[in-house]
Amino acid sequence: MTTEAPTPAAVPTLNMVIGGKRVAAASGDTFDVVSPVTGAVIARVAKGGAEDVDRAVKAAQSAFDGEWQTWSQTRRGQTLARFAALIRDHLEELARLESKNMGKPISSARWEIGAVANVMEYWAGAANKLMGETIPVSKPGFDFTLREPIGVVGLIVPWNFPLMLASWKMGPALAAGNTAILKPASYTPLTALRVAELALEAGFPPGVLNVVTGPGATAGAAIAAHPGIGKVAFTGETATGQEIMRAAAGNIKKVSLELGGKSPNVVFADADIERFAAESPYSVFDNCGQDCCARARIIVERSVHDRVVELFAAATAKVKVGDPDDEATEVGTMVSFRQRETVLDYIRIGREEGARVVAGGGIPAEPAYAQGAYIQPTVFENVTSRMRIAQEEVFGPVVVVIPFDTEEEAVRLANDTPYGLSGSIWTRDIARAIRTVKAVRSGVISVNCNSSVHTEAPFGGYKMSGVGRENGMHALEQYTQIKNVYIDLS
Ligand code: NAD
Repeated sequence: MTTEAPTPAAVPTLNMVIGGKRVAAASGDTFDVVSPVTGAVIARVAKGGAEDVDRAVKAAQSAFDGEWQTWSQTRRGQTLARFAALIRDHLEELARLESKNMGKPISSARWEIGAVANVMEYWAGAANKLMGETIPVSKPGFDFTLREPIGVVGLIVPWNFPLMLASWKMGPALAAGNTAILKPASYTPLTALRVAELALEAGFPPGVLNVVTGPGATAGAAIAAHPGIGKVAFTGETATGQEIMRAAAGNIKKVSLELGGKSPNVVFADADIERFAAESPYSVFDNCGQDCCARARIIVERSVHDRVVELFAAATAKVKVGDPDDEATEVGTMVSFRQRETVLDYIRIGREEGARVVAGGGIPAEPAYAQGAYIQPTVFENVTSRMRIAQEEVFGPVVVVIPFDTEEEAVRLANDTPYGLSGSIWTRDIARAIRTVKAVRSGVISVNCNSSVHTEAPFGGYKMSGVGRENGMHALEQYTQIKNVYIDLS
């Protein structure tokens, strides 16, 4: 009997979507997309660069100038509604793709794709509610405003919630009548490419939504600098946001930035401590901690510090880390082995700084975890606010616990980072809750829960966490410009 080596499953080569067609990179190059669950290459994707961005800008400009101009706002909304329905019809396919590509649990991936459909439905309804104003100016004529699209917009997104963060940009951009070039992160380009096909199937004219895949340093940078792009919307690291802002200055692009965070979870002694400890592990370990809103700093009143640490560590030990395909898994792998190395480095730094690990602290030892980029949810106590693990965004499942003695000190600690994205306050005292909400410098805050994001409400950062707001009707400000018209009636 002869034995043959099994044939590896064919790895697909995926091209970009420009002007409604699948096209290879001008250079002919591709890059590998690796699953962090198995370490295997799951796709080869076109490695776009400046020349491809230029092609996409031409296609998007020609779509903007073409049939798209004749569409009523209602028609744009109806097409967004069809797009949302197609995303829902393909929910399982898209969720499987994202879970395999990113290592997030299948249950989380399903939730995320459902959220993408919700976002598109929201913007489907909003499209024909973009209105101007009539303004009583002091001259006798008639003054009104028109709310107009910007033109071609560039949408650059990260890998942690690949399609959801893209939807926050695509929805308002298309509802407002722009045409768009989406650049997904190199780790996670698969769902963006699939969704661009669904947009064509929904009936958007070719060139209205283009997807360019490729490295940030070339394809991303070309979008940020291109003179034919009127606006760039970016989600990612603060340092990248700064580069994009500089590159965008060339043609005074409008810029919106959703950047990093190091959000506080402030617990006063009068809070429902049991509820805090049961729910809050998910506020920092969900998505394997790769969440800009992760409540990565627990700031707790000293009188309940030990009890909170004990309950939180016990709840952390119960978080189900495992195979993303398993329906019961709550935390899968990190996005890549490289990202895991960064997080392990931070755990080492925390120990060297004198912080003490009370849960997790490394790679799970069992053989089932040997293949993928798994890491244990980790809790540090004995932390001071000036330590690097309390200041820098780890972007992994690591939380630090810092004690405080007074409300004033709690607020000072909460504000003691360059970031200001999200956060929570836990107390039963309503006056203290409102005082603290007002004193904490962040764009999103919740009381007695860890909720950060609502499709219908504004989301974005203070300080170095960003510029502009996504979600809710405020997002339209990022994708429209206002023209004032005055008519002399004499
Ligand atoms: P990143 O900044 O490395 O990359 C984000 C995107 O920008 C990718 O598509 C990348 O290819 C591209 N890019 C990289 N360099 C570029 C350049 N010079 N010019 C143009 N584009 C460039 O971020 P990441 O590692 O993919 O994502 C993690 C970061 O994203 C974290 O800091 C996290 O906090 C942040 N984030 C923020 C939010 C938010 O809403 N505030 C949400 C999710 C993630």
